Amino acid sequence: MLMNIINYAHYLLESSIDKGETVVDATCGNGHDTLFLSRVVGQSGKVLAFDIQEEAIENTKQALSESSYANVSFILDSHANMTTHLKAQNIELVGGAIFNLGYLPKGDKTIITNRESTVEAIQHLLPVLKTNGLVVLVVYHGHEGGKDEMHAVLKYAMNLSQRSYHVLQYGFINQQNNPPFIIAIQKR
Ligand code: SAM
Repeated sequence: MLMNIINYAHYLLESSIDKGETVVDATCGNGHDTLFLSRVVGQSGKVLAFDIQEEAIENTKQALSESSYANVSFILDSHANMTTHLKAQNIELVGGAIFNLGYLPKGDKTIITNRESTVEAIQHLLPVLKTNGLVVLVVYHGHEGGKDEMHAVLKYAMNLSQRSYHVLQYGFINQQNNPPFIIAIQKR
């Protein structure tokens, strides 16, 4: 069976993350991915959940309110400052990460992820990613500014050395209205 984009993104991460690891939700938004990661790493693991909007951090706290896990560290800052936060928390190895790009669903559609900070954040993450770990990007490109970011991320990912990374693109090619797709980067 073909999986939808979010299910496949989660499947990839679940297959490669171990319990107890530290992982990153680079854009926590409404908290769906943070909640998912929190369950995957379990009580002994940790999720760093980034977002630049207070509303998103609050929504994510709300989404987690019924979960029994207290393993999420909320960071109200750009993921472009990832290294500073990893160092502050003494994190030297990351088990995996997700970037769900674009704007906050049901929020301000003008506050979007962008080419510079997204690529910078990936550049910060790859050196600390575990061997065989994955950075999964869910790329939305139908909104204003989306295509610009999509081209930059694709260019960056396509030029990663195949000796060091496997890079996958997954998406449905017969859907209308700029369907999202996945770029998954696996460290070799
Ligand atoms: N993962 C979320 C979920 O499960 O509900 C959806 C994320 S939403 C598509 C994108 C989010 O990226 C928005 O909440 C937005 O505020 C956030 N964002 C935009 N630029 C950012 C940046 N530089 N650093 C961190 N978050 C950013």
